[in-house]
Amino acid sequence: MRKRTKEVRIGKLRIGNGHPILVQSMANTLTSDSDATTKQIHELSDAGCEIIRVSVPDMKSALALKKIRENISIPLVADIHFDYRLAVESAKYADKLRINPGNIGSEEKIRAVVDAAKEHSIPIRIGVNLGSLEKELEKKYGLTPKAMVESAMQNITLLENLDFYDIVVSLKASDVPRTIEAYKMFSEKLDYPLHIGVTESGTIFSGTISSSIGIGSLLLGGIGDTIRVSLAAPPVEEVKVGWQILKSLKLRKRGIEVTACPTCARANFDVALVARKIEDETKNMEKPMHIAIMGCGVNGPGEAKEADIGGKGENLFYSKGGISGKVSEKDILDRVLKEINSQ
Ligand code: SF4
Repeated sequence: MRKRTKEVRIGKLRIGNGHPILVQSMANTLTSDSDATTKQIHELSDAGCEIIRVSVPDMKSALALKKIRENISIPLVADIHFDYRLAVESAKYADKLRINPGNIGSEEKIRAVVDAAKEHSIPIRIGVNLGSLEKELEKKYGLTPKAMVESAMQNITLLENLDFYDIVVSLKASDVPRTIEAYKMFSEKLDYPLHIGVTESGTIFSGTISSSIGIGSLLLGGIGDTIRVSLAAPPVEEVKVGWQILKSLKLRKRGIEVTACPTCARANFDVALVARKIEDETKNMEKPMHIAIMGCGVNGPGEAKEADIGGKGENLFYSKGGISGKVSEKDILDRVLKEINSQ
């Protein structure tokens, strides 16, 4: 069962408290180049990104947030480290701040950031990362999930002491077991909403696998309110993988989902080719539909009947659970596309 967390508003969206799990990504353009960043955010948003984070390493980037915010429609998160002035400036334009209060410095500086967040009614995400843990905690507990949870608790206390509770938390390690353990430990203690992911998980191949296992395990355990797949790849790939994880777990629906059999000697048409073509042709569609392309009559009828549209060996074509005629292999792609548009 999904853990019920505290509700937090991020721009026009709400997370926690049973709201849908949202897909987040991070732009990799220079934030100070507002045109390039806006363009990338549009591409990401078209692919299904629902919340976008950008780095704010300098004042030029903080100031650029104004123009970016004016030209995008999804909530904007400003990621700030060390310099509280960047957070105070970013709070004027962003829908959420991601900071680690522990590296912002004195209590006065943290207070200035919290005051800015309160003034603009935006939440703060405490983003604990195993790679940048406080030295004392690392010394005391080593690079362990316990140290990560302790770091989150200390940072939360800093904010709560300033009467600030609009908090989201993340606890990311670059390996799956420690990430899962840290989130589980935290989730048993507090009910702030959690942004989940495996950080620096790797290239598109290894990172997709690590993220799917890490994020997938947590979601199956009822933990997670927003997700980010971190990949050393174009960010649009992160969004695609993020959605696939949610769709595989039947937590969200978006666009076309193609079930295809792996084929064997019984297959009587090129299943992989047809399935790939359907995915390519429908990649920008948002309407949720399930298409099953199966090679023969062994598992074909069951899968095809369950889907909105199904094709199987012997050229039988299914629509909304029933056989709707025959179609030759060369016509199957056109027939599926036609059917998608008519349903
Ligand atoms: Fe083989 Fe038919 Fe199963 Fe596809 S559906 S893997 S062709 S038995």
